[in-house]
Amino acid sequence: MLHEAKNLVTPLGFFMPVFADAHTAAQFAIGVVIYDLMAPKWKHSKFSREELLKKCPQLRPDKLESGFLYYDAEMDDAHLVHHILREGVSAGGTAINYVKAEKLLRAADGRVCGAVLSDASGESSRTAEVKAKVVINAAGPWSDDLRKQIGATPRIRPLRGSHIIFNRERLPIPHAVTLLHPRDHRAMFAIPWEGTTMIGTTDLDHKATPGANEPYALADEIDYILEAGNATFADPKLSRADIISSFAGLRPIISSGANIDPSKESRAHVVWEEEGLITVTGGKLTTFRIMAEQALNLAAAHLPGKPDFSKRVRYFDALPKVEAPSGMNAADLAYLMGRYGKETSDLFDLAQPGELDHIGALPNVWAELRFAARSEGVQHLDDLLLRRVRLGMLLPEGAQAQMSRIRAIVQPELGWDDGRWQLEEKRYLKIYQAYYSPAPTGQEN
Ligand SMILES: Cc1cc2nc3c(=O)[nH]c(=O)nc-3n(C[C@H](O)[C@H](O)[C@H](O)COP(=O)(O)OP(=O)(O)OC[C@H]3O[C@@H](n4cnc5c(N)ncnc54)[C@H](O)[C@@H]3O)c2cc1C
Repeated sequence: MLHEAKNLVTPLGFFMPVFADAHTAAQFAIGVVIYDLMAPKWKHSKFSREELLKKCPQLRPDKLESGFLYYDAEMDDAHLVHHILREGVSAGGTAINYVKAEKLLRAADGRVCGAVLSDASGESSRTAEVKAKVVINAAGPWSDDLRKQIGATPRIRPLRGSHIIFNRERLPIPHAVTLLHPRDHRAMFAIPWEGTTMIGTTDLDHKATPGANEPYALADEIDYILEAGNATFADPKLSRADIISSFAGLRPIISSGANIDPSKESRAHVVWEEEGLITVTGGKLTTFRIMAEQALNLAAAHLPGKPDFSKRVRYFDALPKVEAPSGMNAADLAYLMGRYGKETSDLFDLAQPGELDHIGALPNVWAELRFAARSEGVQHLDDLLLRRVRLGMLLPEGAQAQMSRIRAIVQPELGWDDGRWQLEEKRYLKIYQAYYSPAPTGQEN
């Protein structure tokens, strides 16, 4: 992915500090070697206590003995998804958001042959019956909801992972840092991410809170994450007051059926064909290409001409050569190219004066908001600020301080009148408070 999705997936160093525990040191040393052998690369280093503190002065000096540095990669998952969707659409596909597959349609022989779709945007109660040669269920943690309709045994164990986000200057670590939680020794990470520092994650069985439409970080999880941060980083202690936002996601884990610790469940993916319904789930972002290939190869048998999807092809279009606008440095150009690919020049063309400036200390530029509003399927303000240009997570208080400039850019693009804007802002702030704020309530009231 580092090669194919250049600048979208970027290399990231990870420090593994060793705190007065020889057992951990041996484990880490073996770990980094195995990691490099699997990649395959040979890029890890070992540091003395003094060397490590010089490189990462944010670490707690007491009990620090030594440490390692190895390399992995990072990205913004929302941008990965949009990048693929947009390339798929430009290759002739159709992508529609806010559409829910309500009910599977069955042919006379019982095979799944389509679905009843409904408008989930809240703007209409329209439904449509869509027939298809093949139906692929890629509903992640919700895959069982569709599988249940054909009588399949539920297999998904949704596991919640929560993160908390800090302003970059509060924890300006130069690389990611592996944290071992003092209570249960689970590995967690502090990661420099999109101009902030994020710490996570938890790994817990998800029981939806009544009334909550999205998962969110529970108070206990936030305390647990802070505890790991404070066991690893020097004073002053990280506190709830330092958190600018939080978020939680659900992992679609295939349950072993045994009542084992969530973190012991396999992260492997599955591709099942049941009554004509192909379900592809489990896995990781890092395995999405092989998952897609396997699902398409099963689907191929039902498609006219039985297309051959087994030949390995690029998943991302190669990046074109784009000239940086005057005043933009190479790093900023690379950041935008990674996200917008061949459409980066469109983003430059639509930018109004001053919109290629950074939004505060973030890597984002204002023109991204205009681009998203114009062409990234924004239905609601929360789409824009939480899943396109994620200012709601990257800036304090859901980016309320920036709202008037955001409004000036996107309201005309979205064609919303003042009444609609007010409704959208109210809806967004409720969602932010309920699921993304430093102390999320899970309630949108
Ligand atoms: C906290 C956390 C950390 C993670 N860290 C990593 C990591 O470091 N590296 C890594 O590789 N992976 C990581 N993952 C895993 C990765 O995010 C998941 O494997 C991946 O998101 C799964 O993608 P998916 O498309 O299968 O499911 P999802 O991303 O959950 O997408 C499923 C989609 O289906 C939609 N849907 C559900 N029901 C219906 C319906 N009836 N009709 C229409 N649409 C429906 C949902 O709205 C959703 O958009 C992490 C996951 C979490 C939660």
